Amino acid sequence: MPLYRDEAVVLRTHKLGEADRIITLLTRQHGRVRAVAKGVRRTTSRWGSRLEPFTHVDVQLAEGRSLDVVTQAETLTPFSSRLGDHYDRYTAGTVMLETAERLVTEEKQPAVQQFLLLVGGLRAMSAGEHRAGQVLDSYLLRSLAVAGYAPSFDHCARCGSPGPHRWFSPASGGVLCTDCRVPGSAGPAPETLVLLSALLTGEWAVVDGADPRHRKEASGLVAAYLAWHLERGLRSLEHVER
Ligand SMILES: [Zn+2]
Repeated sequence: MPLYRDEAVVLRTHKLGEADRIITLLTRQHGRVRAVAKGVRRTTSRWGSRLEPFTHVDVQLAEGRSLDVVTQAETLTPFSSRLGDHYDRYTAGTVMLETAERLVTEEKQPAVQQFLLLVGGLRAMSAGEHRAGQVLDSYLLRSLAVAGYAPSFDHCARCGSPGPHRWFSPASGGVLCTDCRVPGSAGPAPETLVLLSALLTGEWAVVDGADPRHRKEASGLVAAYLAWHLERGLRSLEHVER
């Protein structure tokens, strides 16, 4: 069987037979890959925690007829143990893993930007320099943008007229001017739209200085935007405190 090597983040695992697991990876060069890890559930497993969700690993895989097989794995960054002691970071990180899996839909189609965003997001989340909720919101907006769903927080998403505008509609792709406003548009505070824009572009001075009210409102709009663009909502997002 031909072998290949890549860098990956473990997104999810599920049981296979008595002792094995199927591991879903987001790799740097091969996009999303599902692979079998043999014997990983035995207490004497040589894999240890290297193939648990969140782990950033260097892996070697053997191409199989249906699923590839993990033949080697070395931990690069143990994000799981770094996030594990902080409930808010851990739950927010779980949403990131689920989002990455949902946005990278094709197997073995390179998704380098999604990979880099995820590793960068997990690194920021485990560093704890910014609030977990805002690291998550920033990641969600950016990963949606990379997936082709970039929201507009300045120009009207329908007619393109320059902002600032007062209305926001997830279904329309961002802010709307008064003429383009659709039923059910939200009317967030102007500061909330400034914050959303800063989350998307990574202006952390603006993000960290935001008022709690606006943080909360922005998180609600990010969740609505994400839900609109994913067919089914995210289970894990329900556990994040907002
Ligand atoms: Zn308009």
